[in-house]
Amino acid sequence: MTDKQKVLLVTGGSRGIGAAICRLGSKAGYRVAVNYAANKDAADALVAEIQAAGGDALAVKGDVGVEADIVAMFGAVYRAYGRLDAFVNNAGIVDVKARVDEMDFSRLERMMRINVVGSFLCAREAVKRMSTRHGGKGGAIVNISSAAAVLGAADNYVDYAASKGAIDTFTIGLAREVALEGIRVNAVRPGIIDTDIHASGGQPDRVALIQDTLPMKRAGTADEVAGAVLYLLSDAASYTTGAILNVSGGR
Ligand code: NAP
Repeated sequence: MTDKQKVLLVTGGSRGIGAAICRLGSKAGYRVAVNYAANKDAADALVAEIQAAGGDALAVKGDVGVEADIVAMFGAVYRAYGRLDAFVNNAGIVDVKARVDEMDFSRLERMMRINVVGSFLCAREAVKRMSTRHGGKGGAIVNISSAAAVLGAADNYVDYAASKGAIDTFTIGLAREVALEGIRVNAVRPGIIDTDIHASGGQPDRVALIQDTLPMKRAGTADEVAGAVLYLLSDAASYTTGAILNVSGGR
């Protein structure tokens, strides 16, 4: 491993889509910082797996709903690796199925704090290190949105859908803001992807229940999302910024 090797930080990188991005990022040659919120075992297992395959990885604890954690996380990655080239705003939550007329303040505040405010604050820390305006060498950011941003998720979690709508707008605005500072900013909108997030939202059988209604009659895999993310981070996407790529099987 050399200090010339590019560095990728993925929030919520220890499980699901984030873990697939970390694995593929390592294969693409990045040193990988794997953020997690609470489940240290999952993060450590992924780091060990990447190292066993010859890659360089580091687990970094931090809740993206807490500003001090975000600042500490970026500091830890920079201290360990000395640079940041690619950043993925992947950590995100859903909540239990509810109608809007059943949602209380604490649910809405948590949803927006983690999915929206956390993504802004993480991007702030990434831009401070990547932007040529701040003495950086440029970089690429990918935000993980959701097909829910355009579908609305009625009767499930309109709050989640709206948080991802904010991510879409954020992607376009930030991309234009830093376009002359060496940073590209894009988003990926996954459809129904087979991960633990559905169980976390109280619907462990969501994939099985919904898949026959999907155009491809199957859920996507985390690896299928990761491929799109690595493309957007790569030089192959050098003229792509402010783009939002659907990886939703036509949903
Ligand atoms: P997941 O399987 O539930 O993965 C959760 C990951 O995020 C874990 O690494 C977890 O860490 C971490 N995490 C959770 N809350 C966090 C916080 N507050 N701060 C930092 N890390 C946190 O989720 P996923 O399905 O891979 O989803 C990843 C992203 O894709 C999310 O933004 C989600 O909205 C989006 N997405 C998913 C789908 C889908 O169908 N799966 C569809 C569209 C969009 P711990 O292990 O420590 O808890």
